[in-house]
Amino acid sequence: MMRDCVTIQSEYDTRKKEDDMRTWRDNIRTVEPYTPGEQPKDKNVIKLNTNENPYGPSPRVSLLQEDMEELRLYPDPAAALLTDGIADYHGVDAGQVFVGVGSDDVLAMAFMTFFNSSLPILFPDVTYSFYDVWAELFRIPYEQPKLDPEFRIRKEDYYKENGGVIFPNPNAPTGICEGLEFVEDILRHNQDAVVIVDEAYIDFGGQSALPLLDQYDNLLIVRTFSKSRSMAGLRIGYAIGSPELIQAMSNVKYSFNSYTMNRPALLLGAESLKDEEYFRETIEKIIRTRTWFGEELKKLGFTFPESKANFLFARHERENAEDIFIAAKQNGIYLRHFDQPRVKDYLRITVGTDAQMQALLEFLKNYLN
Ligand SMILES: *Cc1c(COP(=O)(O)O)cnc(C)c1O
Repeated sequence: MMRDCVTIQSEYDTRKKEDDMRTWRDNIRTVEPYTPGEQPKDKNVIKLNTNENPYGPSPRVSLLQEDMEELRLYPDPAAALLTDGIADYHGVDAGQVFVGVGSDDVLAMAFMTFFNSSLPILFPDVTYSFYDVWAELFRIPYEQPKLDPEFRIRKEDYYKENGGVIFPNPNAPTGICEGLEFVEDILRHNQDAVVIVDEAYIDFGGQSALPLLDQYDNLLIVRTFSKSRSMAGLRIGYAIGSPELIQAMSNVKYSFNSYTMNRPALLLGAESLKDEEYFRETIEKIIRTRTWFGEELKKLGFTFPESKANFLFARHERENAEDIFIAAKQNGIYLRHFDQPRVKDYLRITVGTDAQMQALLEFLKNYLN
């Protein structure tokens, strides 16, 4: 016997209603995900929106045929080649280094490992927008003390009891870098919690917290190969801290996925570390471009805090930032704009090559006229 369409539809509706009430839906972990910057397919755009390095990685970074043949084998779960390379590079013990799939992976692992107090963790209101996403995901209570009107972190805000502290230095997206005394002051006031300093941009002229490691076993420094080493596509990040912190992170990692680092990442990451000359050269170029471009930007009526990163966080004296952002994109130049109350007047502009920055300046001159 054939049933008519109306019957089928009504059975479907009833089933759907029952479905909507099934409790597994209440038990899904729902989160508002992090929104990464756009990765346009068109290779011809001038891409100044995600703080990538305009120069390629060191020419040493390339795979051999024998490396390819070894892809059939699992990688070393301890990632020793890369871990040892990083340890040598920074003059620390291998037991003080933890590597992961970009610093995002390392940071997520650190949140899970160290932020388990019922007290809130602390990070600035204007900062890397992944921190609140991880806090939500892992159900970590958090507070976000406000940056001061000049966008500086107020260290006094971090003196109160807390379940942990994290901030980037230089901060993102402001580019402002605090000195060693500032970082040490926060550490001195936070002996009972893990303090994470996210040094994603430290190589572009900031002062690293590495010298504080000997004194503070609750300090974790997180770094990445994505920006200064121009290897965002390979996904390599690392943390340096006391052996106790690193062991705790490794235990979490091995409870999760033993093979986070793939073979090419291990090999090529280690190669990059051997080319200090290229590393220094490209960073110098970016710093020179940052200085020159900043001066030109000022002449056009923009202001920005002094940056020790590979980007400037700039606002114009009268033009709307979002309008500039949209117009630039229509002209094939990608910048970053954050549609959030405190920073909506700003554009985050990655420092590219001189030619790319010159093209942006031409666009801005036309736009402003
Ligand atoms: C870019 C960035 C990261 C993440 O970099 P990875 O590519 O995941 O290594 C982490 N923290 C800050 C502040 C960043 O800007």
